[in-house]
Amino acid sequence: MFSFESFDIKLDTEFIGRNFVFSEEADSTNSVLLDKGNKYTINGTVFYAEKQLKGRGRKNRPWYSAKELNLLFSILLSNKKYITANPVLLNFAASLAVGNALENLYQLKVELKWPNDVLINGKKLCGILIESTSEGNKIERLVIGLGINVNQTMFQGNYSIPPTSVKLEINENAERERLLAEVLNNFEELLLVLIESPENILKDWKQKCGMIGDKISITEGDEVKYGIFEDVDENGFLLLKDNNNRIEKIHYGEVSLR
Ligand code: ATP
Repeated sequence: MFSFESFDIKLDTEFIGRNFVFSEEADSTNSVLLDKGNKYTINGTVFYAEKQLKGRGRKNRPWYSAKELNLLFSILLSNKKYITANPVLLNFAASLAVGNALENLYQLKVELKWPNDVLINGKKLCGILIESTSEGNKIERLVIGLGINVNQTMFQGNYSIPPTSVKLEINENAERERLLAEVLNNFEELLLVLIESPENILKDWKQKCGMIGDKISITEGDEVKYGIFEDVDENGFLLLKDNNNRIEKIHYGEVSLR
């Protein structure tokens, strides 16, 4: 059972998670915060669910998570200062927040995968999905959804990247409340860095991205591109170098090692 008190005592933020909404079950935590009908507007609101019925990742692919074992939550950003931030760098900041929390609390060595995953030893521990709603051509609210595998040890089904969890990595149960607070504490700090000096987010993310310099393939729909993961540019887009040393900027796609 998730203890709000244990979480709250460790939360050290000004606005992220100060409005905390707990639910036993939701279709998807992102959908709840994106739905204007729900009237959540406070910048930094965190909507937390013990179970998602329709958890999803990019391209509507499912996110599976056993009830009450993991962390499933979304963060609402409604303040103009944050919603206009570069979404790829926001993704990087969120992955870094999870990575830093896992390193601080459990001394785990994380690897960040472009653009939105947190891996340990090549296995996926966390998925992140950023979505937004617009009014005209202005983004109105932006929602960052995170699924972190904490105490689940059995993962059935087919995964393109094998899943792992904190418990599988440290061989004991992890305190979800403490991990959630640590992720949110880190995220708020990184959000401020993102606004002030985005180049520092890029630098930290690059340091933890294990794939730069590797031979990769990128799949986007039916198309597969091959090359070397040369770098990411100042906007966080992936720069792919082909056999003829030509650099192509990649905005979207699934990256695999070759
Ligand atoms: P990729 O899996 O290639 O990184 P992606 O970044 O688009 O793709 P996400 O949007 O993060 O993936 O999440 C959806 C994918 O994550 C699903 O296709 C599924 O294979 C995988 N997945 C679903 N649930 C879990 C989980 N609990 N742990 C790890 N992976 C999961």
